[in-house]
Amino acid sequence: MDKINLERIRTWSEKALKEYLILRNKDVDGDFETLVFRVFSAIENETPIDNESEDRQRLLVCEYKSKLILRGCVIPDPFSLKKNWLSESGSGLYKWPSIYYTDIEKYLRKLEQPDELMNRLDSDYKEGKAYRYYKCEFVKEIYFHEITEESDFCFLKSRVTPSQRTSSTPYHVWAAVKKDNERPGGEINSAYCTCIAGLLGCCNHVIAMLFRVEAAVCTGATKPSCTSVFAKWKVPSGIKTVLTHKPLCDV
Ligand SMILES: [Zn+2]
Repeated sequence: MDKINLERIRTWSEKALKEYLILRNKDVDGDFETLVFRVFSAIENETPIDNESEDRQRLLVCEYKSKLILRGCVIPDPFSLKKNWLSESGSGLYKWPSIYYTDIEKYLRKLEQPDELMNRLDSDYKEGKAYRYYKCEFVKEIYFHEITEESDFCFLKSRVTPSQRTSSTPYHVWAAVKKDNERPGGEINSAYCTCIAGLLGCCNHVIAMLFRVEAAVCTGATKPSCTSVFAKWKVPSGIKTVLTHKPLCDV
């Protein structure tokens, strides 16, 4: 395979690379360039599609699509929304819906999470330790998307670093959350993470992003009148590096 083909693979989205590899039972860990070379190698070796993987992938796609159904209506895939994401350091923070711990708890209970996890989160929260889930800038800058002006729900998305390896490639996380209107929103409809356990929508990375939003809501940082609070609210600096490497639409 010549250089042109490698270049061509680099034009694929990260999602497309991963789908290609999953279908062939290949590892999907690593940065973009690692995925490109793995796909390159699979094409070169004519690695066939693994039938079991294909079935599994079909199920995963169905599961993923079910997250994009809101009260009977289909909402767009946040990964396909290229424009109109409002950054946390811009005006996005003021649009974050009022997610409180009760919303996070209700969402996790809806997903029938084990009592052990619920009890641990409950204790951590009551002991003021929920920050542990997003400390050390594990959760990068959070972006807001209104979907449409009329939509009752919005998207929040971020990149979350695997907690054990702060230098490794962050996972992509999103959540569909009810907007604040006349009444506070915060109801979590669905969430997703690109980590191995992320399809369920309740991995540590999703929880970390939700807890960081909750902290901003509880401290008043999401209210434009609280300018002194915003001054103290820390937007993760890591995003600056991320943006120089990849356009925002790929987040
Ligand atoms: Zn995850």
